[in-house]
Amino acid sequence: MRYCLWIAALFLSAAWAADLHSHESIRGKLLVRDGAPPAVETADHKLVQLDGDESTRKVLADKRLNGYQMEAHGHFTASDRFAIDPFFERGLVAVDKGKVKIITYYCDVCNIRTYTPGPCACCQKETTLELRDPALEPQDK
Ligand SMILES: [Zn+2]
Repeated sequence: MRYCLWIAALFLSAAWAADLHSHESIRGKLLVRDGAPPAVETADHKLVQLDGDESTRKVLADKRLNGYQMEAHGHFTASDRFAIDPFFERGLVAVDKGKVKIITYYCDVCNIRTYTPGPCACCQKETTLELRDPALEPQDK
């Protein structure tokens, strides 16, 4: 009996996880604004507010990305609000000439690449924004 309950619980948690990952995506121009939450302007000029986890928020606060075409994966929490999937699942990517690019930050002194903006963890030099072909990224999944 106990075993059955355990199985049922497993099924329930699987359903819950599936619900969290409803596969919606949104494309448009990223707007990084002072004093306002980051948003994406869709092709039909609708503004959708973006939110995500801590690392995603760091990227969304990077002024260098203002005006870039982006694609976010996640789900709508309201008609004008979109919650981006966890950072490690690459919920947020750039789109350059119709091609998906990974947003990376590179330190040419240490040859270290990271995925959030800010000073290099090693030499503290400000990292350079680089959009990268996903094929160049380590395939970890
Ligand atoms: Zn460095």
